[in-house]
Formats: sequence, structure tokens, C-alpha cells
Amino acid sequence: MDQTKSKALFTKACDVIPGGVNSPVRAFKSVGGTPPFISHAKGAHIFDVDGNKYVDFIGSWGPMILGHANDEVLGEIARVMEKGTSFGAPTELEITMAEAIIERVPAVDVVRLVNSGTEATMSAIRLARGVTKRDKCIKFNGCYHGHGDSFLIAAGSGATTLGIPNSPGVTKATAQDTLLANFNDIESVKEVFEKYPEDIACVIVEPIAGNMGCIPPQDNFLQDLRTLCSKYNALLIFDEVMTGFRVARGGANELYGVDPDLLCFGKVIGGGLPIGAYGGKRDLMNHVAPAGPVYQAGTLSGNPVAVTAGLETLKRLTPEVYETLEEIGGYMQSKLHDIITKNGYPLSQTRVGSMVCLFFTPNEVRNFADVQKCDLEKFNLFFHEMLKQGVYLAPSQFEAGFLGICHTKEIIDEVAEKAQKALSVVF
Ligand code: PLP
Repeated sequence: MDQTKSKALFTKACDVIPGGVNSPVRAFKSVGGTPPFISHAKGAHIFDVDGNKYVDFIGSWGPMILGHANDEVLGEIARVMEKGTSFGAPTELEITMAEAIIERVPAVDVVRLVNSGTEATMSAIRLARGVTKRDKCIKFNGCYHGHGDSFLIAAGSGATTLGIPNSPGVTKATAQDTLLANFNDIESVKEVFEKYPEDIACVIVEPIAGNMGCIPPQDNFLQDLRTLCSKYNALLIFDEVMTGFRVARGGANELYGVDPDLLCFGKVIGGGLPIGAYGGKRDLMNHVAPAGPVYQAGTLSGNPVAVTAGLETLKRLTPEVYETLEEIGGYMQSKLHDIITKNGYPLSQTRVGSMVCLFFTPNEVRNFADVQKCDLEKFNLFFHEMLKQGVYLAPSQFEAGFLGICHTKEIIDEVAEKAQKALSVVF
């Protein structure tokens, strides 16, 4: 694989951008090597500046559920852009987007648009604190909710990949207000509530943990969280930045039948442009300024171009599309299952719809401690063997893989063959 141009660009980038990238995992720091610099993408494929073509399982970390550069979505974006790209004043498009979210998610009556998933979670937790007049929040080891200070405690995703789950720069006071529990372990949550029964404003959770691989909730975990939060008058926040409008039309709350108090969105609702959102019941959301006193704002919030990309994406995510995504996901899982069982490889798989993960451990993975037992050296080797063959996986064991409607069975067949080859090098 020729990487001449990517290598030159990475050297140049490292001079002018911290670590050469604008978001840490992109730097390939834990897997080693040079990240391909992307020139363009189409459908299920991305292409780098050296002319290499890859089947893409990152999908911009989730947004590209329709595949890259969807012609119809691009057409609508171009049409809207001609009218101006930002006004800093209300537009009808924002109402349409709010209605699209509300119609899909019964727990949302009112929604505020922001510019990223991080902004959504930071704002939701501020709202929870403002409404409950309590300071503490519970988060789960290995979950990632963006780079807000309150969440960089035992954070998953790039923070874990780089070995900095607790970031320097987060004050002690902030860190003290973030209490930790273990995903899929309701007893660990109970213990925290019993210790601080009057102090916990909210529990924030990725309903499917997608930042430590892909870990589905088990044994009524989400339902039990709902019960505990209600018992202690704390708000339950589902961070659906990754799962929202991906794992089901209404997201994970629909899939598991649990209504949180607040929900955070991002990724898919921006169709590849920067957006985020948080919402919930009217009485709660009406505490947000200017309806109420909890302040939150944004120069580009509700940007017409981003909103259009998101709306056009949501519009195309029909019930049939979710069936297709389930079919594609199931097909890939069964292909990998055959390879694993035929060869007795010490691997396990998880999947919810179009979110997938191959763990380099033979054991079931239920939480952060389990993921940490994965063989990272073997993962890294597998990653590079796949990359060499033109398959672009997330460069970390602590990330989910994303499928989109452009990952056809033919593409999956081709990828499965390459996976077999790669695994025969690894083991
Ligand atoms: N929450 C979850 C579950 C995420 O996966 C992410 C990003 O990967 C975020 C929040 C932060 O979103 P953003 O990167 O748009 O700030």
C-alpha cells in the first residue's frame, strides 16, 4: 500500500496541528503507522490521497448511515446553501428538524439544536443540575459523552485508546461531582445512590455502549436505571449521540422501551455536518433559556446547511431501511461467526443493528473491565492486515464499527474473505 503522500501530509500536519489531527483517534497512535489522508468518499468507500480505496467501517464515526456523498442529500445541501449559510436568526428548517425528532422519539416534546454531541451532553447535564439543584452525576466506566469536563472521568473512546481516561485540566471539584458505576451492573449504581441519595442530579448513559467497542445493555439494565432514577428523583439521560436514529427509527429508547428524562443526539441528525441536539419533556426543557434560567446558546446552532443534511438523511431512513441495516448487520455477523467457529479463533462479537464489534477475547464482553482484557496487540495486527487489504476499521479496540446502507452483501463477502486472510496472519 503506497502511503507516500499521506506520510508527507502527516509530517506537515504534525507541525501545525497537535498530533497532526483535529480529533485524537484519527492519529493511529495506539495502532501505530500513518493515517491515510482522505481525498474523497462515495457510498461505502473512502479514497486516500495516494489513490488507495477502502471499504469504510467508520462512516465518520457514525453519521454516514446512508453512505458517503449521497447524491440526493448533496443536492438539497447545495440548494439550501445558495440561500445563505448562516443567519443567526430563526428559520423554518429548525422547526422541521425539531418536529422530525419529536415525531420519532416519544420522550421528547421540546428539543434544542446545538453544534456537536459534546455540546448536547454538556448542556443536558447543566440542565439536569439546574432543575434538580443537585451537583453530582453518575456516569459509567468506559462510556464516552464527548470532551466536556464532567465526562472525562474514566472516559472511553479516544481517551481510553490513548491511556488518558481522566484528562489533566479537569479540576478536582469537577471530577468529584462525577461518580462512577459499571455498565450492565445495576448493583454498582445502587451503591452510589445509597451513598449520595440526595446529591445526584442525573445518570448519563450510552444505552448501547459504543465507545468501548459495542456493548448492548443486558438483564433489564436500562429499565432498572429508570426505576432507580425515579426512586431517587434523579434525571435519566440517554446519550444517543451514536445510537440515535441508527439502531431504530426512534433510537435505543425505542428499541429497549425505556423513556429517559433527557436525550442527547448528534451524528446521524447532521448527515455528516456538525450538529447536536438535546431534548425531553416540555416542563424540563422549558428551564432552558430564554424559556427558563438555564443558559445555553450557540452562534451556529440550528445552522440551515447542517439541518438540511440531517433532515434529508432522516427522511431517507424509512422502516424498510432499518430492516435492510439489520439484514446487512446480521449477514456480516454470520459470516464472521463462521470464520471464528471454523478456525476456533479466540474472538467474540457483538452487534446491535448496524453497530458492530469484534472483540479480541473469547469471553463475553459486558463492561469496561471485560474490554480491557482484550488482546490489543492482536487487534492492532488485525487492524493493519485489514487496512493493507483495503478495509478501513476504527483504529482502536475501544470503538464500534458502523455499517450503512451502501455495505452490500457483495462488499461484506469481500470483507469476510479479507478478514479470514488477516486472521490467519494474526493467529
Ligand atoms: N456521546 C457519544 C455517545 C459519542 O459517541 C460522542 C462522539 O463520539 C459524543 C457524545 C461526542 O460527540 P461529538 O464528537 O460530536 O462532540
